[in-house]
Amino acid sequence: MRWTRFFSPTLKETPAEAEVKSHKLMLRAAMMRKVSAGVYSLLPLGLRVTRKVERIVREEMDRTGALEILMPVLSPAELWKESGRWAVYGKELMRVEDRHGRFFALGPTHEEVVTDIARGEVRSYRQLPMTLYQIQTKFRDEVRPRFGIVRAREFIMKDAYSFHATEESLEETYSKMYEAYTRIFKRCGLRFGAVTADSGAIGGDVTHEFMVFAETGESRVFACKCGYAATEERAEGGIEKRAADEEPLPLEKVSTPGMKTVEEVTAFLRKEPWRLLKTIIYNSDGEYVAVLMRGDREINEAKLAKVLGSSSLELAEPEEILKVSGGPLGFSGPVGLKGVRIIADRSVSDMVNMVTGANEADAHFVNVNLGRDFEPAEFHDLLQVAEGDTCMKCGEMLTSWRGIEVGQIFKLGTKYSTAMRAHFLDETGTERPFIMGCYGIGITRTVAAAIEQNSDDDGIFWPISIAPFEVHILPTNMSDPDLVATADEIYRGLLDRGVEVIMDDREERPGGKFKDADLIGVPIRITVGERGMKDGVVEIRLRETGKTTKVETAGAVDAALDMVRDLKKRYEV
Ligand code: ATP
Ligand code: MG
Repeated sequence: MRWTRFFSPTLKETPAEAEVKSHKLMLRAAMMRKVSAGVYSLLPLGLRVTRKVERIVREEMDRTGALEILMPVLSPAELWKESGRWAVYGKELMRVEDRHGRFFALGPTHEEVVTDIARGEVRSYRQLPMTLYQIQTKFRDEVRPRFGIVRAREFIMKDAYSFHATEESLEETYSKMYEAYTRIFKRCGLRFGAVTADSGAIGGDVTHEFMVFAETGESRVFACKCGYAATEERAEGGIEKRAADEEPLPLEKVSTPGMKTVEEVTAFLRKEPWRLLKTIIYNSDGEYVAVLMRGDREINEAKLAKVLGSSSLELAEPEEILKVSGGPLGFSGPVGLKGVRIIADRSVSDMVNMVTGANEADAHFVNVNLGRDFEPAEFHDLLQVAEGDTCMKCGEMLTSWRGIEVGQIFKLGTKYSTAMRAHFLDETGTERPFIMGCYGIGITRTVAAAIEQNSDDDGIFWPISIAPFEVHILPTNMSDPDLVATADEIYRGLLDRGVEVIMDDREERPGGKFKDADLIGVPIRITVGERGMKDGVVEIRLRETGKTTKVETAGAVDAALDMVRDLKKRYEV
């Protein structure tokens, strides 16, 4: 490709709206342009990288035996009503109405559509297992589209769905997919971890997220040396017990005028924050629940939503708290709290002589004790884990890192097949719902994640496996006919050997061309310069390390070819 024939309107300035490296660089390198909030056009450079990621994903999906299909973006509301998700998916689901007043969803994911295919076509256990996948545009009306294509409203996803007669068969495909994902992200040159995660709105119990290590990532992972790793939503940890063997003291009501927060109350009463038992009232799908947590720790709302099975979980408003508990916000407590479900974090069972709100203004109880003064209906793990908590597997301290979720795999079980009556006949002729798995990869998000990991202040340094081009030829002076002829010769030589080359044939000053070369990040750059011409050499430079070598002009094609091969080997698995 000659730059003058290419469409690559790079930018010198960093666009103000971009917060993270990948977003800035994708705009500056002219990989994409914004159309609307969370909606982007991919320009040639961006599309070339995207297609490379897609190719790797396709090859690895095909290796697992999955079959590629293409489902429509538009899916009828009826299917979503059958699964129940028309009601529960909420505002993230983009809905459109046709001229006949019929509603459709713009697919955010395709469990409904693929389950409909399976129930229509697959009759017998003999046709199972079957895995179908597609690479397609998805729509999600994200509350906060941000970071460019990392969290977009329209993006490209690979989604696969497997159908099984038995749990063992699902397990087998799930492992194959785990393996395939590992191969995919290695081939894309990413440093990543697979962590156990929360299944969110998709459903199912077993799930892993593939996270690319990145400081700018929106997900936090808690991990242990023993190999345990889980997302913040899901992570479990042990916390130090406090005062468990103290003798219970008599219950007492004390005045705490205007003291509402944990800090205010405990400072006022001269107690440690962990003495306080926080009582937080939630509205879960219209029902009130009082949640108890030790004062120095936070409630993990993802865990809470899972325990309650809520599709909508919100903190109760002050008026609601007054109605439910009889007291104002900041003074809730479990003692005497009637007519509302009370659930407690499991650490509460170790608490003794607690401080709680008294469900009236300006009053707290001290020396509150479990069993004697109140009894929660249930104990659950509701703890928001923090660094330094202990690993439930080995007892070591947990640490944390941040990452970008690029893929997720789920064991769905029969959630969709049962709801949608998608059945097959087993060996005994009995009708059973399909056992299902589903497996997603954010293709465009993976491109951005690769940039987060492989870039510096000057621009991107692509892993060659997903680079838009493999070699960048940079003739420094387009008005020197000999120099241009040499550059052309190398260019054609490499093209003939199947190398993907871009040659910057613009009549620009070398400084600007070097800047653009660093920006778009092609792994190997060949500079054909005036000084080198005199000595019969060109300069070959690796973008990532900056390592430069001079080679004789006649050997430039072979030298570059060797480098391409060497670099490619790094991403083979
Ligand atoms: P997130 O938690 O980041 O919102 P998710 O868990 O809802 O993502 P999945 O339903 O697991 O996402 O979708 C599969 C993959 O699609 C994700 O792993 C991610 O790589 C990608 N993806 C999801 N939402 C977006 C988005 N808004 N923009 C770009 N890619 C996305
Ligand atoms: Mg996910």
